Amino acid sequence: MISAEPLAALADNYIWMARDHAGAAAIAVDPGDAEVVATWLNDHRLRLSGILVTHHHGDHTAGVAELAERHQVPVFGPAGEAIPAVNHPVSGGDHFALDGFGDFRVLDCPGHTAGHIAYLWDGHLFSGDTLFAGGCGRVFEGTAGQMHASLQRLAGLPADTRVCCGHEYTVKNLEFAHRADPNNERLAQRLQAARHARAAGQPTVPSTLAEELATNPFLRADRPELRRSAQDWCGKDLEQADHVFAALRQWKDAS
Ligand SMILES: [Zn+2]
Repeated sequence: MISAEPLAALADNYIWMARDHAGAAAIAVDPGDAEVVATWLNDHRLRLSGILVTHHHGDHTAGVAELAERHQVPVFGPAGEAIPAVNHPVSGGDHFALDGFGDFRVLDCPGHTAGHIAYLWDGHLFSGDTLFAGGCGRVFEGTAGQMHASLQRLAGLPADTRVCCGHEYTVKNLEFAHRADPNNERLAQRLQAARHARAAGQPTVPSTLAEELATNPFLRADRPELRRSAQDWCGKDLEQADHVFAALRQWKDAS
């Protein structure tokens, strides 16, 4: 059975563990803490057969070198970023296969960092800090236009794609989303459900792309209601969706 599950790590990170078809091995996505992965592998009696990294930030990479050394596994990471222990640099359009796991597809999604990549595997999108449940990453190294284009690329994937993101930011993201898109009933319901999940100690991830397209303001910058909200916030006419996106991102950063 194919599955991916999130391991809570550090303050609010998720390390994603994907299991192979036979249920004998797993790969780790963005292991920011080696011990969390080692404990999980031990508890489930699985061996590690690969590591995927989406971008260079320490909370996504701090456990990589130790795990790679201990398990002698291939480490895939963005060709455009210098990350120690990455021995299989990849970039958008690349495909690779891992024994027992099948195919992985790489998508370029610059914006949060200049070389950020995402991985698509069997209906799962490992989106790192680009697309979050209910939100998106901050624009640190790229431009808002790049980030918007990256998110649009991810938005074009099949609607049933499971979005496996790098942080548990969902409630805060949806609180902002609700301010920007107050009449979106599905969004209001999602916020309630996320609050309940967190109060019960449950993760809010993975979501689906369909859910994001219906409720995530950063995928909805082409909607008139988001445009109106963004214009009201910045006091300017916003002609294009990428300008609406940039205003929404600034609004979220300031709030
Ligand atoms: Zn990051």
